[in-house]
Amino acid sequence: MVSGWKRLSVGVIGGGIGGMSVAIALKRAGHDVVIYERSNFAGEVGASVSCAANGTRWLHEWKVDVAQGDPVVLKRLIQRDWKTGQPMSEYSLNDYEERWGHVYNMFHRQDMHAMLKNCALGEAGDGTPARLMVNHKCKDIDLQSNTITFENGATLYHDLIVGADGIGSVVRGALGIHPTRKIADQQCLHCNVMRDDAIKAGLVDYSQHEALEYWGGQEGKWDKIVLSPCNGGKLLSYYCFFARKQGDAINQTWGAEERSVEELLEHYPELDRQVFGHLGIGKEIQPWRLWIHEPYAYLNKQRACLLGDAGHPMMPHQSQGACMAIEDAAALGILFSAAYFDGNVEQALSIYNKVRLPRVTRVQSAAARAAYNINERIGFSNNKDLPFYKVEDTNNVLTIEEMNAYDMYRDIEEKLAAVKEVQYGDSYVCGLPVGMKLLNGIVVGASA
Ligand SMILES: Cc1cc2nc3c(=O)[nH]c(=O)nc-3n(C[C@H](O)[C@H](O)[C@H](O)COP(=O)(O)OP(=O)(O)OC[C@H]3O[C@@H](n4cnc5c(N)ncnc54)[C@H](O)[C@@H]3O)c2cc1C
Repeated sequence: MVSGWKRLSVGVIGGGIGGMSVAIALKRAGHDVVIYERSNFAGEVGASVSCAANGTRWLHEWKVDVAQGDPVVLKRLIQRDWKTGQPMSEYSLNDYEERWGHVYNMFHRQDMHAMLKNCALGEAGDGTPARLMVNHKCKDIDLQSNTITFENGATLYHDLIVGADGIGSVVRGALGIHPTRKIADQQCLHCNVMRDDAIKAGLVDYSQHEALEYWGGQEGKWDKIVLSPCNGGKLLSYYCFFARKQGDAINQTWGAEERSVEELLEHYPELDRQVFGHLGIGKEIQPWRLWIHEPYAYLNKQRACLLGDAGHPMMPHQSQGACMAIEDAAALGILFSAAYFDGNVEQALSIYNKVRLPRVTRVQSAAARAAYNINERIGFSNNKDLPFYKVEDTNNVLTIEEMNAYDMYRDIEEKLAAVKEVQYGDSYVCGLPVGMKLLNGIVVGASA
């Protein structure tokens, strides 16, 4: 416990997965949270969001009712041959919970969002329920007065401002960050298939596999199909990637006019006929325009910070976007808790930056590499004995160990000790135990 803790009024801009998560974390830490969301959440189109153990652990710590999210608990990752659909490699998650303490959940976005929203705004558990103000689109923030100006004319003060306003963040600009970004060479169409429709059509019932399944993504090719079952297995969510030169999805807005099945199928003349059959009965086909952002130099300025996609947008190929937003929220929850927060908002945010920036940047670059090489994907990156295993740099590959063995409390302790110029006594480096051997051969704490 430190002295000086005080209850803050926190303004969270953006009520997505990251915004709801940070509202939960900060209300649990005793603060008064208001979430400002530009939309009213109507008209969202569903897709899956995966939440690996490094995200799930915080849901448990915050006492979120995970069952409300109706997840599928994943048992394996399967890589299939593009043309025949035969399994080429598998990463088993059978011992996943035993090893990492938490399961790998696959949620439907709306269910996950509703689960987090209920927890943030609800009475259950520690803390005062957060308040949600919809139809509040942030126009600008003033860092001197720490006020937020909205398009509806309101101007409101908060002690701490969290920009969780997604990839097109307005808060980011107010913090002086102007992204260097480029359109990815890969594009995506997403579609949903109802399990019952697939069974009626005589197609294989992929939901039985309880797996994230991949077709393609090897040998530097952009073509890849990613299947994730959600909604307790009733819904099969397909992310269908292809080279941008085959068609550019200019409209990235979810809930826009649906695309035709023909447009989706034309990219995949040689695809395994089973999964091709699934795509042929796909619904709610939506384009997703992918961007590659260079990492930003910082995540905080004065009494404001960025969280989630606002601070580190990433390609979807490590399925870690939501988890990284949840981890950001967890870091703020710890730093502003009675155990750590001494009343100095700026200092707490500077530690947040030191803890989060290296980790999110590492995941961000690994996600970009996995776009064209599935061997770089966490899980498959451990299958190094396979004959077709090839990664850019074995020493730099992102492993499941560093994602799931990461101890954020210890990482924060280490960074705090450095700022206070005191000795850090634990045998951890950046939240990983000294001596832990990563599958890429690196031993944590060993000199290079
Ligand atoms: C189709 C799709 C599939 C994905 N699949 C996965 C996956 O499988 N696994 C995974 O880990 N990640 C996945 N991601 C990424 C993941 O959803 C995001 O990384 C994660 O949701 C980050 O959440 P966020 O809150 O930062 O941003 P968002 O979820 O984008 O939320 C931002 C919120 O801010 C609001 N907003 C924006 N501007 C303003 C403003 N000016 N004022 C007020 N409010 C504003 C928006 O309306 C929105 O509600 C996927 C993303 C997409 C789009």
